[in-house]
Amino acid sequence: MGNSFDINNLVRENVKTMKPYSSARDEFEDFDTADMIFLDANENPFENGVNRYPDPLQMSVKEVLAKQRNVKTNQILLGNGSDEVLDLLFRAFCEPKTDNVITLPPTYGMYGVLANINAVENKEILLSEDFQPQIEKIMEAVDEKTKIIFLCSPNNPTGNSFSDESVAYLLQNFKGLVVIDEAYIDFSKKDSWINELDEYPNLVITQTLSKAYGLAGIRLGICYASAEVISVLNKIKPPYNVNELTQKRALDRLDKPEKIKSEIESIITQRSVLLKVLLDVDFVEKIYPTEANFILVKVDNANKRYAELIAKGIVIRNRTTQPLCNNCLRFTVGTEQENMKLIEVLKQL
Ligand SMILES: *Cc1c(COP(=O)(O)O)cnc(C)c1O
Repeated sequence: MGNSFDINNLVRENVKTMKPYSSARDEFEDFDTADMIFLDANENPFENGVNRYPDPLQMSVKEVLAKQRNVKTNQILLGNGSDEVLDLLFRAFCEPKTDNVITLPPTYGMYGVLANINAVENKEILLSEDFQPQIEKIMEAVDEKTKIIFLCSPNNPTGNSFSDESVAYLLQNFKGLVVIDEAYIDFSKKDSWINELDEYPNLVITQTLSKAYGLAGIRLGICYASAEVISVLNKIKPPYNVNELTQKRALDRLDKPEKIKSEIESIITQRSVLLKVLLDVDFVEKIYPTEANFILVKVDNANKRYAELIAKGIVIRNRTTQPLCNNCLRFTVGTEQENMKLIEVLKQL
């Protein structure tokens, strides 16, 4: 068997042959720019901190990430949230109305939305009852037009991560890209698949600063992959897709790993508190194991309980319409005070 992987078999023909946009600053990367006068990009010359275009390749942010994650900067692509990164993957590798992708519901809704926007067929292969990938069914669904399999691990909205065996099997046997969305990896005991990047040329990992890193508002998504995959994505990305303010805030935050770590620890502690309390709530029928900053629970009547919580000023996510999630609610873990309020309300209902 083996996995004869060739990126050229996956990239769309028009992407292979296109000439990328060349921005004013692309043309002299190797100079020491400190003393130069920039009259090339039609910017306003009066300094205010953001009057210049940002670095299109965001090298200062990538250098920090590369060091922290032990990868090379040419194995990183940054986007306007993971949502842009995921969209770029569709646009680089999936020919509209021809190619297809595989997703595993119940999972993150954006994969399906992006497939739709890009006119790419989305083959949905349900997770098993214990929310694991059904490998045989997935491999049966694969055809010569299948370009990407999306794995979300830990998975949203179920909270569990996928078994290492399943993920490794797909990486070894599927000849397209295996995208592992690790938006919640920092809340899990499991290691990131980043450590396996050099092992699997078809492995693509997405992460984000929106969850554990506390920066949903700045929109910074991260893609880790082989230098070959990253260079295809760089070719098609909008030149200035990550703005200067975002790059600055990301650098500030990445410089405070201890603070991030302590917030994550506090969220994990609060998660345990909530898990224990939920055991005693009489309308809760099942609490699913979680490795994320949220908890999925099956209740007696999700629509009713959702409305009751809203009426008490607490907004959660009703997932009852998702496959395998009948009567399920998803609670994000908040601060200790927020969770105490939630607990108080749950006990009143
Ligand atoms: C929240 C979330 C993201 C984050 O998306 P951003 O665009 O980076 O904010 C990505 N994937 C999953 C599964 C998520 O739940």
